[in-house]
Amino acid sequence: MFSKVLIANRGEIALRVLRACKEMGIETVAVHSTADADAMHVRLADESVCIGPNPASESYLNIPALVTACEITGADAVHPGYGFLSENARFARILAEHKIAFIGPSAHHIEIMGDKIEAKRTALELGIPCVPGSEGEVETVEDAKAIGKEFGYPVLVKAAAGGGGRGMKVASSEAEMETAFKTARSEAKAAFGDGSVYIEKYLVKPRHIEVQVIGDGQGNAVHLGTRDCSLQRRHQKVWEEAVAPTVPMEQQQEIGEICASAMRKLKYSGAGTIEFLYEDGAFYFIEMNTRLQVEHPVSEFVTDIDVVYEQISVAAGNKLSIKQSDVEFAGHAIEVRINAEDPVTFTPSPGTITFYHPAGGVGVRIDSAVYQGYRIPPYYDSLIGKLIAHGRTREECLQRLKRAIDEFVVDGVKTTLPLFQRLIREPDVIAGNYDIHWLEQYLARTKPV
Ligand code: ADP
Repeated sequence: MFSKVLIANRGEIALRVLRACKEMGIETVAVHSTADADAMHVRLADESVCIGPNPASESYLNIPALVTACEITGADAVHPGYGFLSENARFARILAEHKIAFIGPSAHHIEIMGDKIEAKRTALELGIPCVPGSEGEVETVEDAKAIGKEFGYPVLVKAAAGGGGRGMKVASSEAEMETAFKTARSEAKAAFGDGSVYIEKYLVKPRHIEVQVIGDGQGNAVHLGTRDCSLQRRHQKVWEEAVAPTVPMEQQQEIGEICASAMRKLKYSGAGTIEFLYEDGAFYFIEMNTRLQVEHPVSEFVTDIDVVYEQISVAAGNKLSIKQSDVEFAGHAIEVRINAEDPVTFTPSPGTITFYHPAGGVGVRIDSAVYQGYRIPPYYDSLIGKLIAHGRTREECLQRLKRAIDEFVVDGVKTTLPLFQRLIREPDVIAGNYDIHWLEQYLARTKPV
C-alpha cells in the first residue's frame, strides 16, 4: 500500500479522498493555491504545500509544481480527484516517469476515452450499445448529408475532442446540415484546437443514465449499478439518483454486466463512469469518464462500497476487494449539488459564509469542505457541498431529502438551496418523471418576470 498520498485537488473532493486515506492509514499531503491557504483540506492533511497563485492554471493545473511537491514531501502516489488534471494523460505519464503512482487508469485508457470517436469505436468493439451514427470522423458536408439521409433527421454533429457540451450542433433537416456541420467544426477548432466531428442520431427526449465501474487492471471489474443524472442545467448535473428509478431491475443488471464485462476485457484500472442516453427503453453510449465523479456518493449509499478506497487499493497493485456477487443494492439515494449561486439567475455568489448549519440525521450524508466564517474564493467552481439522502425506498429517500433540504442553512452567500426546496415539491420530480430537458424547461416556465 502507499505510505503517503498527495491530493491534487481542493474543496469537498480533496476532503473525500483525505478521509479515505486516513481510514486506510495512509499519510496525506494537501496542495493549495494562495487563495486556499485556510481551506479545510489543508487544515486536515498531515502536510501541505502551496503550489502557486490563485488562478488554477498556475496552481492546481501546474504539473511541475505538483511533481516538485511530491518530491519534497516524499509522496508515492497522487489522487487527482475530479476536474483539474484527473483526465490528463500527460500528467499520468509524467508521474510514471518520476516513479509516482497516479490513482486512476492508465494514460492509454485516459487517451482512448478522451477522444470521442476513438471512445465510441472502442465501446462498439467491447459490445456496449451506442447511438446510431457515422463510423468515425465525417469530413465533408456531402458525407454529412448522406449520413443524415441514412439515419433520418434530426441528427447531432459532435466534436471528437468535445467537452462540456461545446462543439455540438443539431440539424433537424437536410437544409440545416451545412450550417450545423460548419459551425460545429469551427467551434470545435476554436475551443479544442481539433476540428474533427462525427454525427449521431439526435435523441429527442432521453434520460441521462450512467453506470459506475471499478477495475483493477488485472482483468477484474465490477459495476455498482446505475445513476440517473437527467436533471441538468447547461449540461451540468444538479440532482442525481441511484439506482435509476425508471429502468426495470433486470435491465439494470444487464447494462451493468455489459459495462463490467467491457472493463474486464479492457483490463481497465480504477473508477470510471460509462454514460448513456436512455430512450424508449434502450441504452445508447455517449462517453466514458475515466475518473471519480461528483455524484459517486449515491452509488456508495446504495451498495455500501467505498469507491475511493477501491481506487487507492487497486492503484497500489491490489486486486479488487469485491466480486460482482458481493455487490448488493439496498434502497435509494439522491444527491443535490448546493452551489454558491443565485438560485434564479445562477450567477456565482462568492463571499463569506456567516452562518452554516448542515443537515443531519438518519440517512443523510454531507460532503462539503466549508465552515462558518469560510470565504468562498471567486476563482474556482461554486460547489459548497453535496447533500445526499438515502432511504429504504425512493419515497423514504425523498422524505429525508426534503426535511434535510429544509434544515440546511447557509447564510452570507446566495445558494441553490431554494431551487431544491422547489424541486422536491414538484410532482414530476416526485414521480421521477423527467428527461434531460425537463429542468431547463421548468426554469424557463417558472422564471419570475
Ligand atoms: P460533453 O463531453 O461535451 O459533455 P457528451 O457526449 O457527454 O459531451 O454530450 C453532452 C450532452 O449532450 C449529453 O449529456 C446530452 O444531454 C446531449 N447529447 C449528446 N449526444 C446526444 C444525442 N445523440 N442525442 C441527444 N442529446 C445528446
